[in-house]
Parts: sequence; structure tokens; C-alpha cells
Amino acid sequence: MTLRQLTLPGGHSIPYTLKVSVKRRTIGLRIDGNGLTVHIPRRVSQHTVDHLLQDKADWIARKLTELQDRPEAFVWQDGATMQYLGQDIRLTLRQDAKNRALEFDGTRLYVAQPNPDDIKTVQRKVAQWYAKQARTDFTRRIELLAAKLGVSTPPVFLSNAKTRWGSCNSRGEIRLHWRLIQAPPHIIQYVVAHELAHLKEMNHSAKFWAWVEKLCPDYAAARNELKAMSVALHLL
Ligand SMILES: [Zn+2]
Repeated sequence: MTLRQLTLPGGHSIPYTLKVSVKRRTIGLRIDGNGLTVHIPRRVSQHTVDHLLQDKADWIARKLTELQDRPEAFVWQDGATMQYLGQDIRLTLRQDAKNRALEFDGTRLYVAQPNPDDIKTVQRKVAQWYAKQARTDFTRRIELLAAKLGVSTPPVFLSNAKTRWGSCNSRGEIRLHWRLIQAPPHIIQYVVAHELAHLKEMNHSAKFWAWVEKLCPDYAAARNELKAMSVALHLL
């Protein structure tokens, strides 16, 4: 394993790791969190490697940029910034002999426990806190919007589904993802409006979208915003 530099035509240089493998027959490039790694068979000259890298320079530069633009995984530590109703809040870990309830002062979420380094417990407690806030917030929105739509308030459940933010089944039960509480209020409003509109229309027809619009006039913008932030909302 050797560390090298690839100098791009523009003069910009990229560090990469060169790995020689006896089993390989071809040169392989990999780009991941560790940057660029070049796997080569034995007896390949540096000249050949240089040539190939120059050939692929555009692709390499593009892949590295894509990787940088991707949101980073959430790191559970004291001072970490989290989202709550679209606002930045700060995770604050404190050592306390007793396990205490979480405290939230509007900008900081305090988690006190005997061992603040016990991140598994911090994670569980924070998720529980979010779920509790989500239940209160979603219930209130559902009540208000159901009244506006002229339907009786449906039962609401929290979900942890991988691929959808909300759902409405044929029994008229609504499920909303607890992670949605991280999003700004107008985004939550859109998801609630969307699921409630399914009580009128169990499809995504023009009639359905007209109901959504009645509850949430800016639904199209909110829908796009939600798509754009979905990956980030799943990081926590
Ligand atoms: Zn739908």
C-alpha cells in the first residue's frame, strides 16, 4: 500500500492509495470515504497507472465531488447539531448519577445519564423524545386539518417505515414517520394534508391533489422540498 499523488491537467492534485494485489489481472479504481484507491496487479508500471488515471481524471474528479456533496452520517456526540421542526438544536450530554428525563429548552436537548459515553442509550432516549414530540405535533395537525376537510379525526400511528413518510390504509388509519418531526412545519403540514386527502380519494388522481391543495396550497413546493431533504432526515 503506497500513498501517491495524481496531478490533474488543471494543476490540482489528488492523493490516492496504490494497492498491489497478486490475484488481480486488471487495474481497478475505487472511490469511497477513504478517497481514491487504485488496485493493480503485480508488475504494472507506474507509467501505465499514471496514464490510466489521466484518462479517467474527469470521472475521478466528478466522483470525489459527488462524495463530498453527500450528507455525512450523523455523529452521536456532545454538541452535535440535530433538527427539530426545521430548527437547529444542540445535543448536550451530561454526566449524572441518576438517569434523568430529557430536558429541552428550545435550543438544547439535555441528556443526563451516569455514563454520557453510553451512546446507545443516548440514541434510544433521543429517538423516544422525538417520537413523543412527533405524536403531540402530528395529532394536533391531524385534528385541525381533518376539521377543515370535514372528516372525523382518524386514528394516527407513528411509523418507522424505510421508504415512506406517511400512509393511509383502507381502514382510514394514518401512519406518519416519527423522523418527520425534524422537518419544518410546512413540510409536516403537507404530509398530513396528503394522508388526510386519502380519506376522500384513495388514489393520486387530480381530484385527490385538489383536496391536498385545499389543505395545503403550496403542496407542490413542499413535496419537492421533502424529496430533497429525505436523505438528511434519515441520518439521525
Ligand atoms: Zn399518497
